[in-house]
Amino acid sequence: SSSSSSSLHVAVLAFPFGTHAGPLLSLVEKIADSAPNVTFSFFSTARSIDKVFSNKRIPNVRPRIVHDGLPKGFRPSSPMEPINLFLKETPENYRRAMEEAVEEENGKKITCLVSDAFYWFCADMAEEMQAKWIPVWTSGPHSLLAHLSTDILRWRLSWNGGKKDRTLNFIPGLSDANFSDLPREIASEEEMEAPFAAMMHKMSQMLPRATALAINSFDAVFPTIVKELESKFKLLLLVGPFPITTKPKPPLRVRVKITAENPDSDPISPDSTGCLKWLDQQEDASVAYISFGSFMTPPPHELAALADAIEESGFPFIWSFRGDPETELPFAFLKRTKNKGKVVPWAPQSHILKHRAVGVFVTHCGWNSIMESVVGGVPMICRPFFGDQMLNTRMLEKAWGIGVGVESGEFTRKGTLKVLEMVLASEKGNVMRQKVVELQYSAMEADKPYGNSTQNFKTLIDLVTK
Ligand code: UDP
Repeated sequence: SSSSSSSLHVAVLAFPFGTHAGPLLSLVEKIADSAPNVTFSFFSTARSIDKVFSNKRIPNVRPRIVHDGLPKGFRPSSPMEPINLFLKETPENYRRAMEEAVEEENGKKITCLVSDAFYWFCADMAEEMQAKWIPVWTSGPHSLLAHLSTDILRWRLSWNGGKKDRTLNFIPGLSDANFSDLPREIASEEEMEAPFAAMMHKMSQMLPRATALAINSFDAVFPTIVKELESKFKLLLLVGPFPITTKPKPPLRVRVKITAENPDSDPISPDSTGCLKWLDQQEDASVAYISFGSFMTPPPHELAALADAIEESGFPFIWSFRGDPETELPFAFLKRTKNKGKVVPWAPQSHILKHRAVGVFVTHCGWNSIMESVVGGVPMICRPFFGDQMLNTRMLEKAWGIGVGVESGEFTRKGTLKVLEMVLASEKGNVMRQKVVELQYSAMEADKPYGNSTQNFKTLIDLVTK
């Protein structure tokens, strides 16, 4: 409630690692688009701002830089190192940058904090500023519920002597999972004290104070879990799946599988590696698309096993490969498979997954990847590594039946060959495909004008901009 929306200033606090800031920006872009008089300040590190804005200009969203806490010339020795250094600077780096932003906007006070859900400190900040706080959880409802249950999970684990092969059936909706599927931040003794785990624990205590919590999910995703979550928050807003709800709406005729000739209205970086064109020449549901997200690469022996399996299977493939495929894949693999597949440094993934030719997604089970696969109607082969990925895998496999884990949790030549054949060339695979198409259909329903996610989005826009 405000006399003039032009006096409103929304601060957006992004988490600058993994695929967090990009989806948050696409959500904010949609809100900002519907409220051109409201000013948005989007805070992240220089590197993350560069990446997510690239050449994008949104008239009322100002990119603003927070210090990353890295010493000059820093070279990370592990993926967690820059995160922990960054967290040491937080929240002071955001506080400083917000003060500067208010000054630059001629004293326009911050009226709402939209933050990555990790940022528990926003609870107090918002109270001090007399602003609203709307955290955004960029992963799924099941992992959020697991985090909110951290204390009871730890207590149960120590009570049963640290045995991780036990079910989580004492939490509604999580009976398909075990302790061993939980993020290490929750259930690994060695990690509990690390800055990242400490942040996640604080988060579980503070999130219920939020004005509302928005999540990249939709009503058909784990209804039991959603019900449980609803009882823990003032307001839970399912506003996903982002790959459709935050994108400009194509005319209905484009809601068919896309091709290079018939691309989506969603602006993409041009298909510079020619993946979509190449897919146009392949048969329906025949291609394996392989990708492990923005920064994960499996260890060398698993890369070799996966390469051997895909070559032996004879299935066509696209592999989004971080690193140097010439030296990191088996000798002459690229040469031998050049008529069968494409290995590219970065792929237009969300578009690839919507292409009719793609039959399976070999994935690390990051939540954005999963939502894109659901929107594309593509079943998954799962090789999770950390964070929520193990729990995601278990839910895809057990609760939905749209994914299958690799045997013994890692790529072996034989095991991988088996699951590729299962998904791409067996009745079981067809059943998985049918199930994922049903879910895809529910996502489309949620995104219709009177659909659940559309209605929730309206509520979210009102909360942030009024
Ligand atoms: N992605 C892409 N091209 C690639 C690899 C990844 O566009 O070659 C995108 C993908 O579409 C998804 C994101 O990167 O939106 C990965 O997000 P996810 O949550 O799955 O994993 P993370 O990067 O956080 O590990």
